[in-house]
Amino acid sequence: FKNKEEAKESLLELKELARSAGLNVVDTIYQIKQKVDPKYILGIGKLKNIAIRAYQLGVDYIIFDNNLTPSQAREISKLVEIKIMDRTQLILDIFAKRAHSNEGKLKVELAQLKYLMPRLSVKDDSLSRLTGGIGGRGPGETKLEIDRRRIKDKIAFLTRKLKQIEKTRDIQRKKRTKRDIPTVSIVGYTNAGKTTLINSLTNSNIYADNLMFATLDTSSKRLRFPEEKEIIITDTVGFIRDLPEDLKDAFKSTLEELYDADLLLHVVDISNKNYEKQIESVNKILEELNLKDMDTILVFNKIDLIDDETLKERKKEYPEAVFISALNRKTFQPLLDKIFYKIFKKKLKHASS
Ligand code: GDP
Ligand code: MG
Repeated sequence: FKNKEEAKESLLELKELARSAGLNVVDTIYQIKQKVDPKYILGIGKLKNIAIRAYQLGVDYIIFDNNLTPSQAREISKLVEIKIMDRTQLILDIFAKRAHSNEGKLKVELAQLKYLMPRLSVKDDSLSRLTGGIGGRGPGETKLEIDRRRIKDKIAFLTRKLKQIEKTRDIQRKKRTKRDIPTVSIVGYTNAGKTTLINSLTNSNIYADNLMFATLDTSSKRLRFPEEKEIIITDTVGFIRDLPEDLKDAFKSTLEELYDADLLLHVVDISNKNYEKQIESVNKILEELNLKDMDTILVFNKIDLIDDETLKERKKEYPEAVFISALNRKTFQPLLDKIFYKIFKKKLKHASS
């Protein structure tokens, strides 16, 4: 890390991610360095200290916040002799645990295999775990060559299968669009309270969890409004900054339904001190998806966790936003009014012009 502030923030997020993966974090260690060591990321002395500490604590994994190149992973593995994982692997692990749909699972597996390919020679359990189904070797081929070939085949197979699934999903989506029920999609940084909000709004129980990525697959619910009007409201996966390129595809594909949305609710955890950065990350992804011109309501959530003075300031700063606590339905009226207005009044305007 370049400075202490950056280190603390980033490690806090990594810790949350690790917790989401079901890991128990016993210690966090960082080093301030203006340039990372190309071979070991950290200084070799520091790395040795970490290895010793890890042995003392009896840990199963050392997780690096930096993403490791295949050669860095190799070199560090040789030195520390404890299973190592980088940020991408950790996120992949979480995606794998949380993927429920066929498509979600295939996409995660594809991303895992792509990440695994160049790292195959690393003798590391966290990787061989991924190669679980791959074994046996033909004459004249090394184990590594066989593994590479099989993974390549598997990647091609998964890619084909995913294309098929996408086709059928397009058809299904067209059907739904034809029903002409307005759709509102909830987006936002991970842990912002999206699932909690959709639950309280619709009184349903889509799996809400204090773990990041509790929802990998998009889930839809109906929400009724006065005058016998109704909308479909959909929940999405949490956004996360610095998402690695190969993961982005898997992640974005879970957001394809956003293209059908009439309105986005961008939910922000106002109690998080990085909330501005989180808004930026979400906007950046929306931009990459060509969705930045979509009508959006900025929804500041968890107002119960900040003091009145701060709330007042934020309201002045973001006059167009609404402020709620997803845990308290009594705070929902301004949000419901705004959704109603944007969806139905705008429709009326359209119709009369
Ligand atoms: P998601 O990742 O955006 O879907 O976030 P979740 O809905 O899973 O919520 C993450 C955590 O924040 C859970 O522990 C929720 O109980 C909590 N949470 C959500 N909304 C609020 C709120 O308005 N106030 C407080 N105090 N906690 C909230
Ligand atoms: Mg969620």
